Amino acid sequence: MSQLFGAIEAGGTKFVCAVGTGPGDIRAESRFPTTTPAETMAQAVAFLQAQAQIHGPLSAIGISTFGPIDPHPHSATYGHITTTPKLSWQHAPVVAMVQEHFHVPVGFDTDVNGAALGEQRWGAAQGLDTFVYLTVGTGIGGGGMANGKMMHGLMHPEMGHMYVPHDWERDPFPGVCPFHGDCLEGLANGPALEARWQQPGETFPPEHEAWLLEAHYLAAGLVNIITVVSPQRIILGGGVMESRHLFPLIHREIRHQLKGYIQMPEMDAGIAEYIVPPTLGNQAGVLGSIALAQNALAQSS
Ligand code: ZN
Repeated sequence: MSQLFGAIEAGGTKFVCAVGTGPGDIRAESRFPTTTPAETMAQAVAFLQAQAQIHGPLSAIGISTFGPIDPHPHSATYGHITTTPKLSWQHAPVVAMVQEHFHVPVGFDTDVNGAALGEQRWGAAQGLDTFVYLTVGTGIGGGGMANGKMMHGLMHPEMGHMYVPHDWERDPFPGVCPFHGDCLEGLANGPALEARWQQPGETFPPEHEAWLLEAHYLAAGLVNIITVVSPQRIILGGGVMESRHLFPLIHREIRHQLKGYIQMPEMDAGIAEYIVPPTLGNQAGVLGSIALAQNALAQSS
C-alpha cells in the first residue's frame, strides 16, 4: 500500500495545499491567498487535518516556500522564512507551525528546490544528479542538485541576483531589482520585460525585439551557470518561459556566447534536450512538496 503525503506550496500571493502520493494521484487540493502566517498556516493545517480524516493519516508533509529560508536542520532558526520583504512573514517558523499539529517528518525547502526535486523524481531531470532548475517569472530563482544533493550551502543559491553584462547603449533600462538594479532578475524578470517596453509581456509578437533581448540576458545567466555548476541539464520554468518560442532563441544565444569553448554534444546539436521546459506543469509546486515529504520520511527512518 502506498503512503499518503501532505503538500504545502507557500507562494508570496497564494498557498496551494494538497494530499496525494505523486503524479496522477493528487486526492485533494486547496488554494487560498497568503495573508498572515497565523491565519494562512492555520488554513493549511486545517485542510491537511480534514483530508487526513477522509483519506487516512499522512506519513509526512513537505513545505516548499518563497524565501529566503533557513534549510539547515541543526540551525536554531531551521524551518523559518528569514529576511523576506513580506514583512509579516519575517522569521515565521513555518515548520514548527505544522509540527505542532502533525507528529510526522516535515520536509522543507525553497519553492525552486522543491520544483527541482519534483522534476528529478518524476519529470525532466530523472536519472540526473547535477542539474539546475531556473524559474523566470515575477522573480528569477535557481536551485537543483549537485552530486545528488539539493543545493544549499551557506543558505541556498540566489541565482537570479548574479550580474550579467549590461550594454547600456543597446538597453538603457536600469533594471527593477530593489537591491541591485540590473542583476539578472532586475533585467529579465516578468516585471522588467513589461516595464522596459511598457506593455504586458503576453502582447509582444514572437518576432518582437523584446524576446531577443530577453533571450540574450537569460543566455548570459545560463552561460554563467553552465561554467560554474556544469549541470547535466537545465530546466527553465516560470511564467515568462511559458512563451515557448523563447527556447530556440535561448539555445542559439547560448551557443553564440559560449563561442565553442565547451565541446560537448549538449552545447551543440543536443542543446534542445539540454535546456528544456519542465514536464510537471502547474502541478510542479505541489509535486515538489510531496517529493520533499518523501525525502523527509526516508531520512527519518
Ligand atoms: Zn538583484
